[in-house]
Amino acid sequence: MDTSALFGLEQVPPEWEAFITEGVLTELEKYGDRRAENLLAVLKVSQATSQTVRKVMQAAKGTGDSARLSPVDVEVLALALELEAVIITDDYSIQNLATVLKVAYRPSGMKGITKVIRWNYLCSGCGKVFKEQHPDCPVCGSPLRTTRRR
Ligand SMILES: [Zn+2]
Repeated sequence: MDTSALFGLEQVPPEWEAFITEGVLTELEKYGDRRAENLLAVLKVSQATSQTVRKVMQAAKGTGDSARLSPVDVEVLALALELEAVIITDDYSIQNLATVLKVAYRPSGMKGITKVIRWNYLCSGCGKVFKEQHPDCPVCGSPLRTTRRR
């Protein structure tokens, strides 16, 4: 996971074996993100070999991404390449280079997935609100509409 992904995530899904690099850790600490502590508890910090880092930098030159990639971005790509892992990133340059290196990636964009949305069911007839879903209104039989609970 790169830094952008960590900012996009509320929490790391428990079934993941998630890795960050030293550079990501430094960035996370620099921003003083309050979630850092919780995230760090489930993240493993690891580092790719310099050989893999060179390979990534070589590929970046080829695509013209080298100017847009930070050293941390390169670290993340190299580690994913070495671990044969999926990169979680919202950074377009990383995604671009990941494609070239045949490293799988996914945008973080998981706020909606990890955060449980609670719904209410509003009757379109009598206006009564239910917390549980029904095929139709138990009171008047009208269709229920889904509304987001506040
Ligand atoms: Zn009703």
